[in-house]
Amino acid sequence: MSDESHENGGDEDHRIETRAVHAGQEPDAETGALMTPIYANSTYVQDGPGDHRGYEYSRTGNPTRTDLEANLASLEGGEYGRAFSSGMGSINAVVNLLESGDHVVTGDDVYGGTHRLFTQVYDQYDVEFSFVDMTDADAVADAMREETELVWMETPTNPLMQVVDVAAVSQVAHEGGALCAVDNTFATPYLQRPLEHGADIVSHSLTKYLGGHSDVVGGALVTDSEDLDERLGFYQNAVGATPGPFGCFLVLRGTKTLPVRMDRHCENARTLATWLEDHPKVDAVYYPGLDSHPQHDVAARQMDDFGGMLSFELDGTLEEASALVSNTEVFTLAESLGGVESLIEQPAAMTHAAVPSEEREAAGLDDGLIRVSVGVEHVEDLRTDLAQAIETATN
Ligand code: PLP
Repeated sequence: MSDESHENGGDEDHRIETRAVHAGQEPDAETGALMTPIYANSTYVQDGPGDHRGYEYSRTGNPTRTDLEANLASLEGGEYGRAFSSGMGSINAVVNLLESGDHVVTGDDVYGGTHRLFTQVYDQYDVEFSFVDMTDADAVADAMREETELVWMETPTNPLMQVVDVAAVSQVAHEGGALCAVDNTFATPYLQRPLEHGADIVSHSLTKYLGGHSDVVGGALVTDSEDLDERLGFYQNAVGATPGPFGCFLVLRGTKTLPVRMDRHCENARTLATWLEDHPKVDAVYYPGLDSHPQHDVAARQMDDFGGMLSFELDGTLEEASALVSNTEVFTLAESLGGVESLIEQPAAMTHAAVPSEEREAAGLDDGLIRVSVGVEHVEDLRTDLAQAIETATN
């Protein structure tokens, strides 16, 4: 269990690869156990009424969670981390900061679950949302209102891989007196640290690359502001979407290898994107690392590499696209992303089915779009598998 000095995530002089392994964690003082133990308990002894040793009740705080929160804060280069039971739990805590009558500007290509939370839950509480093309900072500025309190962005976006200029959009948010929050799930802090570009809050679905092994669901928020952290901490405890210690342990184990996994994810995705771009049966490839990507320059400036996610459109029918995703052998047909194994899916029928079809169409999300989470397997096995699936589907 770490001490309070880990509030700032450990030794900031170290590089991210070193912090990924060590930040927030010390060998157990009593036993020398190297790994943070799974503190599987709900309550803690008090030495007198109200006189506790830092922990009272595990919804409010748990030592395994403390270490994870410090590790994540360090990776994002922020002061304060908060862990949640899911990525949606963390996004919800940010929206909890709002009051009825407030307005939010967000992207027209956000994760389907985020869109559902905004439109089907918070609409009822009289919070209004404008969905705009956030690759255009002027469009964000035009959507700002007197009542705008939050600008929420994803970059790269899910599933069209659009890249939002975090510095430009956070400047627009701040000029309008709003907070700027960035869902950094796709990029991870190894590739992109939004706080460095002016964002106030970074959100994660830990379920993806940070956990990294498709075996845990979790979320997190990181900020540099003590005031924001306190307010977010209030909702973390009051709403209660907190993770259990086993989940925290799994994510802590995952973040240790984040840099090495991401290097392979990026290398494999780059190889496949370049190959798909030249494939005669492929109409379009969306990957920020390609020169042809409309925001490639922003991505090159803002990210250290371009990530493991890509999408593409087949030059064929919707049925052929469905046949393709059903015919892979190494790629698994499944929702989610960011695990070591490669996954393939059709967003219109799966991850983004919650977004109404006319809104999908307006945002350029074609029903035949195929999204791929490129894993860490041998890239030639992945290429061969996609090649045979394209061939089978289109013949
Ligand atoms: N943000 C993004 C970009 C996602 O892709 C997802 C899930 O796919 C979420 C948030 C929600 O995370 P969770 O499924 O952990 O609640």
